[in-house]
This record gives sequence, C-alpha cells and structure tokens, in this order.
Amino acid sequence: MTQGNILVVTAPSGAGKTTLVAALLAADANVQLSISFTSRAPRAGEVDGKDYRFVDRATFEAMIAAGELLEYAEVYGNYYGTSKAWINEARQSGRDILLEIDTQGAAQVRELFPDAIGLFVLPPSLDVLEQRLKNRGKDADDVIARRMAEARAEIGHAGEFDYLIVNEYIDEAVRDIVSIVRAERLREPLQTERHAQLLASLKG
Ligand code: 5GP
Repeated sequence: MTQGNILVVTAPSGAGKTTLVAALLAADANVQLSISFTSRAPRAGEVDGKDYRFVDRATFEAMIAAGELLEYAEVYGNYYGTSKAWINEARQSGRDILLEIDTQGAAQVRELFPDAIGLFVLPPSLDVLEQRLKNRGKDADDVIARRMAEARAEIGHAGEFDYLIVNEYIDEAVRDIVSIVRAERLREPLQTERHAQLLASLKG
C-alpha cells in the first residue's frame, strides 16, 4: 500500500483552523486526523479522544521520557504532542495523515519527514483575529492578550510552510485546502506507485 501524505496544518488560534480542518475531513474521506495529546484542561464542550487526548502533566512527561511522541511542544504553558505509534499505524492505511500542530511541532515533523506538506492558515487581519478570539468567549482577557502576542510570533514562521491560506471567507478557504490536499495526492511519484499496473498496461 502506498503511504499517503503527511499534512501539517498550522495557524494562530482564532485563524479558523478547526473549522477549516473539520470541513476538509467532511469533504475528503482520504484524510485522517491525528488526535494530539495535551496536558491542557478541556475547554467547555471539548471531548476526550475527539478534540484531544487529555492527560496530566506527569503522564505527558512520562510519554516524553519513554520516546512515545513523534513531536511535542509547550504552548501557552501546556504540553501538546503527537503519538508516534498512532502515526506509524495510520500511515499503513494509505490515507493522508493530518496534524494540527504549532510551528515548533511543524519544524520537528519537517526534520523527520521532509516530504510532509505544510499549510499555514492566516487571518485576514490582526483585528479580525482578536475579534474571533473574543467572540469565541472561551478565554479570559489576559489569555487573549497572550494569544495575540503568540499569534504574531507564529505568523513570523509562515515562510517555512509550502502553502499559505488566508481565511477571510470560510467557503473560499475550504476550497483552497481541499484543492491543495487533492492536488498533492496526484503528484507523480505517489501516482506512479499507486497505479503501477495501470501504467504498465498503458505503456507501449
Ligand atoms: P489550543 O489550546 O488552542 O487547542 O491549541 C494551542 C496550540 O497548540 C495550537 O497552535 C495548536 O496547533 C497546538 N497544538 C495542538 N496539538 C498539538 C500537537 O500535537 N503538537 C504541537 N506541537 N502543537 C499542537
């Protein structure tokens, strides 16, 4: 089975990444989402095993020590990381694997998998970003101020990614991400491997 692509989607919080990724997953059954581990407490409405796998700090640190994480980072004072075992198993299915991670994690994945495809989601402006964070109503004012500062630092890494999606109009941004993922799947080396029999039968 030809392994699928590794897709890394990164965005400052409030850029609309979660909505965008949910729309991609609904539109494309060949994409599988990696559920990250985190030591952060669940927000209202978040479900363990669906949004994240929620663990305490000690458990997360034990996972780091045991080498169970493909990548991890400390973001806003909490740990976030990707399970190595899950990725290795999921890649056998031939579907694309999608990681929703920050720029530190994206850099680690790029080192391990130089073919990984990096997508960065930008807000149309800082004002819109701030408004989206406030409308979400999930975080206190000091947390929002910290997230705005972190957002600007994250955006400084946008040039390390293969694709930049500006999420001003969600429908347009969804079309962008769906198109990128589909086009990347049709690249020559992957297609040649997938369709070896077809190519052999078609060649003169
Ligand atoms: P939030 O707390 O808003 O859900 O996520 C905070 C940040 O952590 C986001 O930038 C998100 O992309 C990042 N993040 C979530 N899961 C992972 C992960 O497994 N690894 C890394 N490196 N970052 C993650």
